[in-house]
Amino acid sequence: MDLQLGLALSAVIGGITAVPSAWTLAVRRRFALCSGVFVVWGIGSIVGYFITRTWPLHEMNARMKAGMVFGLPASIASLMLVAVLLDFCDRVVGPGARLRLTLESLTVASGIFIPLWVLILRPDKPVFSWIPGSCVPVMVASALASIVVGLAAVVTVRSQVDRRLVARRCTAAGLVAVGTTLVAAGACYHTVVVALLGSLLLPLAGWLWASGEAVPVAAAAARTDGSPSSGLATALAPVLALSVVAIYGFTYEDGIDAVTAIVGVANGFFLVGRQYIAFIDLRKVHTRLADSESHYRELAHTDPLTGLANRRGLLRSLYVEATSGASCVLLTLDLDGFKNVNDLRGHDAGDAVLIEVGQRLRMNLRPGDLAARLGGDEFAVLMAGRPADAVKVAERLLGVLRRPYHAAGGPIYLSASMGLAGCATADSIHSLLRNADLAQRAAKMHGKNRVELYDETFDRTLRRRSAIEHEMRDAIDKQQLVLVFQPVVALPSVRPVGAEALLRWNHPELGAVSPLEFIPIAEETGHIEVLGAWVLHEACRQLSRWLSDGHDVWVSVNVSPRELHSAEYLDRVRDVLRAHRVPPSRLVLEVTEHAVAVDVDEFRRVLASLRSLGVRIALDDFGAGYSNLGALREIPVDILKIDQGLVSDVDLVDVAVRIGQRLGLQVIAEGIADMSHHKLVASTSCPYGQGFLFGRGVPGEHLEAMLVSMPPLPAPAMSRKDTTVPTSGSS
Ligand code: C2E
Ligand code: CA
Ligand code: CA
Repeated sequence: MDLQLGLALSAVIGGITAVPSAWTLAVRRRFALCSGVFVVWGIGSIVGYFITRTWPLHEMNARMKAGMVFGLPASIASLMLVAVLLDFCDRVVGPGARLRLTLESLTVASGIFIPLWVLILRPDKPVFSWIPGSCVPVMVASALASIVVGLAAVVTVRSQVDRRLVARRCTAAGLVAVGTTLVAAGACYHTVVVALLGSLLLPLAGWLWASGEAVPVAAAAARTDGSPSSGLATALAPVLALSVVAIYGFTYEDGIDAVTAIVGVANGFFLVGRQYIAFIDLRKVHTRLADSESHYRELAHTDPLTGLANRRGLLRSLYVEATSGASCVLLTLDLDGFKNVNDLRGHDAGDAVLIEVGQRLRMNLRPGDLAARLGGDEFAVLMAGRPADAVKVAERLLGVLRRPYHAAGGPIYLSASMGLAGCATADSIHSLLRNADLAQRAAKMHGKNRVELYDETFDRTLRRRSAIEHEMRDAIDKQQLVLVFQPVVALPSVRPVGAEALLRWNHPELGAVSPLEFIPIAEETGHIEVLGAWVLHEACRQLSRWLSDGHDVWVSVNVSPRELHSAEYLDRVRDVLRAHRVPPSRLVLEVTEHAVAVDVDEFRRVLASLRSLGVRIALDDFGAGYSNLGALREIPVDILKIDQGLVSDVDLVDVAVRIGQRLGLQVIAEGIADMSHHKLVASTSCPYGQGFLFGRGVPGEHLEAMLVSMPPLPAPAMSRKDTTVPTSGSS
């Protein structure tokens, strides 16, 4: 076929392709750049055809010019396609991909161009020597087409979204570049088939491009995982191609030509550039990983609720402080009664309080101090400096934490118990924490809402306390408990009329443990109920024996508030009395004034039901500390025991006796230890006394000896009207 005819056909095909592209561009405003390529080529091929129509294309010179005429729009089309693909890059690979992919595609392009060059385009002696002469415009167009093909291949490989669609578009771009270059080559090398084949690729490319959905914009950015790539995968084939060409050149020819060398060297630079970027990417990823690692490490050391450090965070700082050797103090604090907040106001209010506590701690620390939440309502503060300064800070914190907490449903009032321990008091972090904890427990034991500084005695106290707590459980079974009886005498005759049962505990290692020490612990742990039951039982056993021996006595037993609150207490008393056949009026239950003051109504109810059994109630330690005279009128008691603290002040004893008598109560003055006390009490009209002067607490048999040597007076017996069992003294 005639080349002129071929170019005419090519112009027709180009024109046909250009029309819908122009329409797409103008009316639908889609694929702007790409449609522009088709339009440029369409117009270019038509213009080219008319320019070359009269040229004698069988002549070398005319062919060269024709190559130029078609090579120019082919090159422009390729340049536009590069722009299209680079724009595409950001959308389907992710932002920042341009530079990387450009370098990669240049590597691929050089791998495509060099074989083309050596086989076909080289002007001196192309491998296919039947190809006539050389054509610079076609060389340029080929180089640009190589870049387009390279870029299309790389974009397809790297695409993060819908790869099939991307491959379609990229193939279309590649076909346009190849097609236009082929038309130019056909014109220049006088090969009609090549020109026609090239022009046929164009409608195919147009169809490929226009069919299929639009590429989802910016979806790529979301999908990229940020992992860097080296670009080596796409570099392998070009490097292989270059190597083959180089080996061929050195084996069959006399080396390689300048263009091959330059492109080869450029290829090396492209690779190096790409690797450098990969290295930068890697370093960025590394920094990001390090950042997120430190972020997560920080999270692992932070309490999520308050944002303070957590236990692990505190331990880390303690470790740093410990190794620095600087003096420091650890404060641990526990909110008093926080459990009530959760129980009564709900956990949301509880959380709000904890958050507020965290904030107050943070706001009131000195720079460099660290606040932490150890869990629940336990917090800690690690402070730099000496214990004396830390005490001041702690006291300030105490005040800050005491302020009301505002919550839905009204303000919440809380206090804190704080323990301080200097870092120098401990040889390990573990024991420092323990020391601060001990001090905090001491603060709780000493009445809460206070600060205690760790002292070595805390250790001993706590160890002894734990031992008592532990050993107490077996004390009854191991027969370490003894009940002693201290006489209560009538005044002024000093004749014994009754006895107070007092508990004694002799432990083989702990020695004689005072009830003042172990009763509070038993009350706290709840063991008091077991001890109280034993005491009640033993006291009634002894009382029953005395009564059957004909002694006119009563026995009093100390009762803890916790026992009184127990639902079984009333039944227990009734059962024990029945079991030992003891008339209820012979048993006196001693309750403390302090316990009564806690909840008057509850006490009134319990005491009333006990009295309805027939037992009598004594109000112990009357006048010690806080006295509620109003309550005294309301609570059902029979006996008033004046506290031993009052016994050296005649006026106080006198007032107490008068109050008792006014209320119709029996009155016993406690703590009469010597003659001066005796005289003083005798000068009032107090009818009964108790104290070391008349006898200490002694085992039952010893007291019996006293009862025998001092036979009871005929009157008046200190008992309620008692009809069930006649007392030996009553007449
Ligand atoms: P309390 O009920 O006030 O018992 C009187 C305490 O005063 C006894 O101490 C007694 O030995 C002591 N005492 C008696 N006369 C004198 C005196 O002239 N001068 C001095 N300085 N002290 C005197 P004890 O036995 O050490 O008991 C202490 C407290 O332990 C008792 O105080 C009582 O509250 C409690 N307690 C003792 N035994 C029991 C028990 O079985 N159950 C319960 N719940 N508490 C008990
Ligand atoms: Ca008592
Ligand atoms: Ca007492």
